[in-house]
Amino acid sequence: MQNSPGTSAAQASAATLQPMWMKDSMAKMDRELAAKYGEPQRPRILRGLHQIAEFWRTEDGDAAVYEEFVRSNFAGEQATIDTMFNRFERLLEQLDGHMHEINHEFRQQMDLDLGPVRPYDEVFGGYDPSAHIIDDFFQNKLAFTVLLNFPLTTLDERLKNGATWSRRQWAEVRLAERFSKRIPAEVNLGVAQAEAAAGQYISEYNIWMRHLLDSQGQRLFPPKMRLLSHWNLRDEIKADYADAQNGSAKQHMIQQVMERVVTQTIPKIVVNNPSVDWNPYTNEVKPAAVADSDSAPSAENVNSSREPDTRYAMLLKTFVASKKADPYSPTAPTLIARRFDEDREIPEVRVKAMLEQVLTSPLASQVAKLIESRLGRPLEPFDIWYNGFRPGSKYTEAQLDEIIGKKYPTAEAYQKDIPNLLMKLGFSPERAQYVASNIVVDPARGSGHAMGAEMRSEKAHLRTRVEMGGMNYKGFNIAVHEMGHNVEQTFSLNDVDHTLLKGVPNTAFTEALAFVFQGHDLELLGLPAPDAKSEAEKTLNDFWATYEIAGVALVDMAVWHWMYDHPQATPKQLNEATVQISKDIWNRYYAPVFHKNDVVLLGIYSHMIDHFLYLPDYPIGHMIAHQIEEQMKKAGNIGLEFERMTKMGDVTPDLWMENATGHPVGPEALLVATQRALSHASQ
Ligand SMILES: [Zn+2]
Repeated sequence: MQNSPGTSAAQASAATLQPMWMKDSMAKMDRELAAKYGEPQRPRILRGLHQIAEFWRTEDGDAAVYEEFVRSNFAGEQATIDTMFNRFERLLEQLDGHMHEINHEFRQQMDLDLGPVRPYDEVFGGYDPSAHIIDDFFQNKLAFTVLLNFPLTTLDERLKNGATWSRRQWAEVRLAERFSKRIPAEVNLGVAQAEAAAGQYISEYNIWMRHLLDSQGQRLFPPKMRLLSHWNLRDEIKADYADAQNGSAKQHMIQQVMERVVTQTIPKIVVNNPSVDWNPYTNEVKPAAVADSDSAPSAENVNSSREPDTRYAMLLKTFVASKKADPYSPTAPTLIARRFDEDREIPEVRVKAMLEQVLTSPLASQVAKLIESRLGRPLEPFDIWYNGFRPGSKYTEAQLDEIIGKKYPTAEAYQKDIPNLLMKLGFSPERAQYVASNIVVDPARGSGHAMGAEMRSEKAHLRTRVEMGGMNYKGFNIAVHEMGHNVEQTFSLNDVDHTLLKGVPNTAFTEALAFVFQGHDLELLGLPAPDAKSEAEKTLNDFWATYEIAGVALVDMAVWHWMYDHPQATPKQLNEATVQISKDIWNRYYAPVFHKNDVVLLGIYSHMIDHFLYLPDYPIGHMIAHQIEEQMKKAGNIGLEFERMTKMGDVTPDLWMENATGHPVGPEALLVATQRALSHASQ
């Protein structure tokens, strides 16, 4: 965002950090280098000098130190530029790779099924040996060497010119980008502390469901049910569709609880507290009449005074901490810009337009009608979490468990079968062998995950869980997903032409690619692929989830803008603003479909409080997944397409997607698939 609020203020404070002598020394070095290397090098010289000036501080050295540094580190001829580029590329691969290997080893005990985790294992696992690299590289001036010779770019430039850049130019851009910020350690620490405090607040925000009373004093929820806001509350709404007797009453009650959280009219005393009963409609609180926890303390000072805007105080702290980094990030001078221009690399205006395209699509009311007909009633606001679109299967989970348990009694059996599985997905025998030789299967402690390498001499790890009786269907389904990650990780590291371009544009891409594999798990077992009806259900489920989370993302975005526009706001004011924003977005996009106004549910997401404008990643992820899926269908051969797409590496999402599918990132593929799904879905 070039015009984000706060931009001019950020620039002003960055300028005041510059030493007094800088201007004169820059002019002097400009003359000197131009005389030495000739007029054609002038633009590079000026660019390098300006890029250094953005970050040079008094403690980096006086004018003499600066001038000597520039004199000896400017590469003014193609041969010296090439040498420098190649050296940095090779050594940074080694640095990233070895740091990652330390991490990989240090996490081993926590990640793998290797017996008890000791307290020191957790400390090893939490340690990040690379945490201070950027600071170190500014201190030893390697960062300045890069900034003197390679271009910092804005997202605008990458989007406008990126398609015409050579691969080498792209690699140079990514090299410089590593040093586009020089955030002081204490500012980073402040961000980490605000994040930890908000995370802690969220992680303890439980509602004891047995203690919720309806107007008849009835308890609708079972004993010992403790639900974390918002994830568990939302998932309980989903589960309650299956409860014909009390489901609807429970869903209404959870909605009421969520609204009280968003508006902060929730009594402070009921949060994470099994010693009180609460009627969320009247807000009456009483000492608990039933014991639902062995450790519940007896209730003291029972009253219904509301939570004092703590939710928004937490959010404000993350904002205040983030804002302190603004002056040190000249090419992305707000948290909003850093999220969209650097992390996502899709401009905020375009993201907003894509979300609105989904939200205003006539498909929304068509899917809504289908849901109403399946539910046999008009929609309620909590139906944004409707979960009745389910792909059917010819096989029961027990049947699948049996087939898979026989096939894969151990993790080794799965490892051995990887080349075979890849050939079923269309990889040639030679490519399948090659990829398989770069994947190591480990027994996971949890459900499973993929850990790629960061240098070409190392392998990707597939962590999967195999029970005593052999692998079950859930484990297989996850292993296939993780294998998709590993295959992407292998191509995008080992087969991309520059290691500075390793990877994919962002996590939405790697997830989308992994889901392509996962969606074909039945065929990998030699069973028939899901039929059109089953696929239609899956697509409708994706559409409805995207429709829901698109509104949530717009709330997240609007709230961050409001904070930048009101940097002095109190938690109470932020509360009022968030409630109003949630209502406005609901009224605009959902009220026409749900026929109810002023709903605040879109403000309930916990990630909004502790994740620094992360929520737009979800709907974009759904869109990307459908674009890749449609392309795979069109191409017919997953193996070849997968390799072709992933060798593109870490360029902007739009450029990657243009190369992959012929179109930039957008919701069209999802909308087309939804339209098609509607014609296959039964009432
Ligand atoms: Zn994944």
